[in-house]
Amino acid sequence: MQMTPKAARFYDRFPDNAVSCQLCPHTCFLRNGGVGTCGARKNRNGTLQALTYGEVTGAAVDPVEKKPLYHFHPGSRIYSVGAWGCNLKCIFCQNSAISQAESPTVPLSPAEVAKNGMADGSIGVAYTYNEPLIAMEYLIDCCKAVRKLGGKNVIVSNGYVNRAPLEELLPWADAFNIDVKAFNNDFYKRMCGAKLEPVLDTVAFLSGKVHMELTTLLIPEANDAIPELEDLADWISENCGRSVPCHLTAYHPELPLRRGGDDGRDFEECAVHFSEKVGVCVSRQRDHPRRLGHDLRQMRRDGGEARRLRRRRLGHAAGRKLRQMRREEQHCRLKSFDPGVIHICA
Ligand code: SF4
Repeated sequence: MQMTPKAARFYDRFPDNAVSCQLCPHTCFLRNGGVGTCGARKNRNGTLQALTYGEVTGAAVDPVEKKPLYHFHPGSRIYSVGAWGCNLKCIFCQNSAISQAESPTVPLSPAEVAKNGMADGSIGVAYTYNEPLIAMEYLIDCCKAVRKLGGKNVIVSNGYVNRAPLEELLPWADAFNIDVKAFNNDFYKRMCGAKLEPVLDTVAFLSGKVHMELTTLLIPEANDAIPELEDLADWISENCGRSVPCHLTAYHPELPLRRGGDDGRDFEECAVHFSEKVGVCVSRQRDHPRRLGHDLRQMRRDGGEARRLRRRRLGHAAGRKLRQMRREEQHCRLKSFDPGVIHICA
C-alpha cells in the first residue's frame, strides 16, 4: 500500500506552476508534472511532493559498525531503514536497485519507525540503504519521534544537501557517516553526476557539531591515486582535525563498474598512505554481498597479510599502531562484527 505523497518543503514557487527544489545543490527546476533528479520529489500542480514520505523499501537491525560507525556506541545494534531514490548517479553504485529506480515499499509512519528503533535492543534508528536526505521531511519527523523515545538517530549520507535543510536536521541527528567518494571534482562530475564542493561543505559544516565518520570507496584506477588520497587526508586533517574516523572500503570488480586487478594489494597501499598522512582511523571492509558471509578464516589470512605488509612498509615506528590495530580487531571479534575489517587507530 502506497501512502499519499506528502507536500514537501524546501522549494521556491515560480509562475505557471513551476517550482525549484532547494533541498540539494542540484536545485532542480520542475515544471508541472516534473520529477527531480533524485526521483523522489515531484511537482504536482505547483506543489512539490515528497514521494517517499512514510515509505520504506527495507528495514533490518544491524550492528552500528555496519553503517559504518566505529566510535559511536560500539557493539550496539541499530534499527536501519531506507526507501528508494538518490540525488547522485554513481555508475559504480552498489545499491542501484533501490537508489536508481522506484521500488516496492511498505508504509511506516515516523511513530512506527521510532517504536521499532527502540525494540530488540536497538539504540535507535539509522537512515541508510538509499540516500535519506532526499526525504528530508520524513527524516526530520522520524528523528523527532525517535528522540522523543530517547533513541539515537544515525544518518548515512552522500552529504549532497543544501545548508538550510541540513541546519534544520542537525539538532535531531546524533551521528553521520558521510561518503566522500573522491577528492576530485572531475570524478564526481563524470561518475556521480554531481560536484565535490558541496560534499566538502557538508563535511566541514558538520565537523565538531555532531559525531561524524567518513567513508571512501576506493576504485582501482579511478579514485585511488596516492597524491589524490594524500590531498584528501590533508583536507580532512585541516578541516575536521586528525581525529575523525575514516573508512576506506575496497571495491570489488564484480560490481557494476568493472575494474580489474588485485584490489587487495592496491587497497593496502592506499590505506597505509592514508593512515600515515592523516593519522586517523582507517578500516577496510569487504562489503561485497557474497563476502558478507563472514568468512573468519579469510579474515585471519587478510589480517596477517596486512600486518606483514605494514611491518615491511612502516618498520618499527608502526609498532604502536599495529598493537592498537590488533586490539581493534579483537574488539570487532568480541562484538561479533564484520570480520572482514582491519581497523587502525593512530
Ligand atoms: S532533492 Fe531531488 S528534486 Fe530536490 S534538488 Fe535535489 S535532486 Fe532535485
